[in-house]
Amino acid sequence: MNAVDVVISEVGPRDGLQNTKSFMPTAAKKAWISAEAAAGVREIEVCSFVPAKLIPQFIDAEEVLAHANAILGLTAVVLVPNLKGCERALAAGARRVTVPISVSEAHSKSNVRKTTAQAIDDFARMIDLAKSQAGAQRAQLVGACSTAFGCSLQGAVAEDDVVRVAVALRDAGADAISLADTVGYANPEQVKRLFRKVRKAIGEDFNIEAHFHNTRGLGLANALAAYEAGVRNFDSTLGGLGGCPWAPGASGNVVTEDLVFMFESMGVRTGIDIGKLIEVRRTAFAALPDAELYGHIAKAGLPKGYQALSRAV
Ligand code: ZN
Repeated sequence: MNAVDVVISEVGPRDGLQNTKSFMPTAAKKAWISAEAAAGVREIEVCSFVPAKLIPQFIDAEEVLAHANAILGLTAVVLVPNLKGCERALAAGARRVTVPISVSEAHSKSNVRKTTAQAIDDFARMIDLAKSQAGAQRAQLVGACSTAFGCSLQGAVAEDDVVRVAVALRDAGADAISLADTVGYANPEQVKRLFRKVRKAIGEDFNIEAHFHNTRGLGLANALAAYEAGVRNFDSTLGGLGGCPWAPGASGNVVTEDLVFMFESMGVRTGIDIGKLIEVRRTAFAALPDAELYGHIAKAGLPKGYQALSRAV
C-alpha cells in the first residue's frame, strides 16, 4: 500500500446515516463500504452500537462491522455512546472504537444523561474492558471531545475545558483524541488555536484527529486550519451526507471528495483515487433516494490537466 500524508476517515455510514430519514438496506451499506475501500479509503466508521429502538438505522451494526472487518487494508471504526454499546462492539469484533464525550455539560446531560466527568469515568471503564482483551488484538479507543468548538445548548465552550477533557481522556488510556465540531460552529482561527493548545497539552506526537461539519460552510477551511496546526487525520462523509438535527436543512459533514481534492491538489497524498470516489458517490446512494448530497467537485468536475497523486490499484 502506498504511503499517505493524511488519513481521511469516511464517517458517512455512521454520522451520515444517523441523520437520514430512511433506512439504508444492509446490502447497500456493505456495497458502499466495499466501494470506498476499493477507491483507496483506509478508514471507515461503519456503524454505531446504539439501541435499535433509539436509532433503527443501526439495527444491522454487527453484520455491517463483520463485512468491513473482512476487507483487507481497511480499518473499520464504530461509534459507541456508552459502556453497554462498547461491550456489544467489542463482542462483535470492533478494533477501533470512537467514544464521544461532550465537553459541554448541557450537551452531555441531554445526550447521554451524564455529566462530562461521569462520561470520562465511563470511558476509563471502556479502556479497562478493551485491555481485558488479548494483547495485540486489543481494540483501540478514540476519545472524541464533542462540542469542542461550541454547543447549540450551552453556546460557547471554554477552550480550557476542552484541554482538560482531552488530557483526562489521554490519562484514562485513549489511543487517540479527536476534537469534534458537532454542531458546525468552528472557524479556522479557533481551530488552529484550539488544536495547538490541545496538542501542546497532550503531547505533539499523540494521535489527534479532526471531525468537522459543514453546517455553516466552513468545513474545508477548518480542515485546512487543522492541517496547518499539525493534524493529519480527518473525518468526512461522501457527498457531505448527514445534515444536522439541530439545524433542519443545513448541510452535513465535510464532503469527502472535496476534502480529497483539496489535499491532493495541494500535493498532500490521501491514497484515495478521486475519480473512483466520485463514481462511488454516483452509485452508493441509489438505495437512499431522499438523501441530500452536497459538494462541489462531483458537480464541477476536475480541472483540466489535473494530476492526481493517488490512484487505486
Ligand atoms: Zn459529527
